[in-house]
Amino acid sequence: MSNDLFTVPEDWRKNAWCDDARYQKMYEESVNDPDAFWTREAQRIDWFEPFSKVKNSSFNGDVDIKWFLDGKLNVAYNCLDRHLENRGDQTAIIFEGNEPGVEEKITYRQLYERVCRFSNVLKSCGVKKGDRVSIYLPMIPQLAVAMLACARIGAIHSIVFAGFSPDALANRITDAECTILITADEGLRGPKAIGLKEAADEAMDKAGMVKKCIVVKHTGADVPMKAGRDVWWHDLTAKESTECPPEHMDSEDPLFILYTSGSTGTPKGVLHTTGGYIVYTSLTHQYVFDYHDGDIYWCTADIGWVTGHSYIIYGPLANGAVTIMFEGIPNYPDFSRFWQICDKHQVNIFYTAPTVVRALMQQGDEPVKATSRKSVRLLGTVGEPINPEAWLWYYRVVGEERCPIVDTWWQTETGGIMITPLPGATDLKPGSATRPFFGIQPALIDKEGNQLDGPGEGYLVMLDSWPALARTVYGDHRRFKSTYFIQCPGTYFSGDGARRDEDGYYWITGRIDDVINVSGHRLGTAEIESSLVAHPAVSEAAVVGFPHDIKGQAIYAYVTLSSGFEPSEELRKELSLFVRKDIGPIATPEVLQFTDSLPKTRSGKIMRRILRKVACNELDNLGDTSTLADPAVVEALIKNRIDAC
Ligand code: ATP
Ligand code: MG
Repeated sequence: MSNDLFTVPEDWRKNAWCDDARYQKMYEESVNDPDAFWTREAQRIDWFEPFSKVKNSSFNGDVDIKWFLDGKLNVAYNCLDRHLENRGDQTAIIFEGNEPGVEEKITYRQLYERVCRFSNVLKSCGVKKGDRVSIYLPMIPQLAVAMLACARIGAIHSIVFAGFSPDALANRITDAECTILITADEGLRGPKAIGLKEAADEAMDKAGMVKKCIVVKHTGADVPMKAGRDVWWHDLTAKESTECPPEHMDSEDPLFILYTSGSTGTPKGVLHTTGGYIVYTSLTHQYVFDYHDGDIYWCTADIGWVTGHSYIIYGPLANGAVTIMFEGIPNYPDFSRFWQICDKHQVNIFYTAPTVVRALMQQGDEPVKATSRKSVRLLGTVGEPINPEAWLWYYRVVGEERCPIVDTWWQTETGGIMITPLPGATDLKPGSATRPFFGIQPALIDKEGNQLDGPGEGYLVMLDSWPALARTVYGDHRRFKSTYFIQCPGTYFSGDGARRDEDGYYWITGRIDDVINVSGHRLGTAEIESSLVAHPAVSEAAVVGFPHDIKGQAIYAYVTLSSGFEPSEELRKELSLFVRKDIGPIATPEVLQFTDSLPKTRSGKIMRRILRKVACNELDNLGDTSTLADPAVVEALIKNRIDAC
């Protein structure tokens, strides 16, 4: 792994919310005196009635987690109403459409009115507090309106990424028992229109339980409307009032259900509640992104993922920020689009995923250099380990060595960012998520269940709860307990492996399910993949283990080449040697397959469990493939697989 150290620039240290001394002080308070810390930090939120106790949580027994007990509040009120007095006319959301030139700026007052109107629509459709509402919308303002309206009236939203298949949508509707579905005629992704209503119709036929389907007219495509069930968004909203009192919610009332990405298996319907979630997302959004009033903030995730929930909508709007919602994709009309948007809207804070960084890096520096990016002050990543090579490219080419990078480790289940640099406080090491956020107590556990001290590598767990931790898996508390709290009793088990270095920095080594055991040496996927990506010919790599007579397991590497490079026997040998020299003989790939693309989840994460099946020739049982972005990729992989078992 990279040993480079990027120290905090002087102006950052002076002007950020937190320098290192302050980070240390706040962190210590947050773990030594959580009551004092969280009582103070919870004041960033407006409470209708104060909480009586900071927390009451146990990771043992039935696993019961409660924060800010007896507090009454409303998340939509905190994201909208309380901003009206001072920033009613300030932009809340900048909508940037799929086509350049299509944009809309929505002020806090306008957003408030739209949310109230739609809250009344939901009520008139019979939606009550605690009911689940399924939302299957593209990245258009109505998506933000719909989720905030649910929050306003106490309904629980379950957002399904608008690229998912009818089957995937039907499963999520059924699992969360939704009787209302909100969708659009079509979504736009680059040159393609996606038939959302068509997919929704198929899903509703399968799921059966949907009584009302509210449809946004987005592209104007002609779509069938089923009498008695399907209604137009604009027809319903036209007659409703722009006032709707917010429901007084208990801290522990559910806010939303969201299904995990499905990288490791069947997605879990993670349930988040109200008080702890909004305190934590607001606090992390401020400190991790060093958000100050007036900053233009852009997170490129889709709201269908937790990143979009916490850091496009809830965290930023609770803080009164200007947040950008982008409907399109990074390469439409061309590979400069993201940077053009940064220039157009004078973006200060930019947050994306390693998969996007690698894809843009593959196109070379020109599309980036064609733009200014002078407004950008801070860069961020989330979703996978970022290979140091990609980090350095992001840092040098995109950020022109001026912008710190916050590599944020967290999960759907954690609700908010857990391990991350704070840009004014933390010296950076490419590929490391660095240090825990306030209130987060990570630990490393070995195979025998012992907690490691000092530097070392093991299973990443959390010793105590934090406000935004999920409370259960919807309808399946037993799965919640068995997935996260059984492996290392008394701790939250993340399912990821990590290494802690001499400076106490955390490096995510990969998923525990993906660890490869070569001749008794346990190897994380991240290090080997990063080594491959460090070779100029490689743009992306994924490694898995397969059974080997002598070594127990050997390494099968899948490699995607940068533009300008062709597969060859020579290059294959060169890459194996490169890893061997970089990490050691133990990490040398036994087999190396070139491929045009890797199988990824819809959120862009590499699905190693599929690659493992291909490597091991277990082709008739690929597991849950419903969250796969492009099934055709798997066929190509199988066609070109190298038999080594
Ligand atoms: P499933 O739980 O269904 O298998 P998933 O884990 O991919 O899917 P998410 O909750 O979207 O679903 O992803 C969280 C995971 O993403 C983490 O457990 C980790 O493996 C990875 N991850 C997220 N951010 C980072 C990061 N900064 N560095 C390394 N890994 C990260
Ligand atoms: Mg997971």
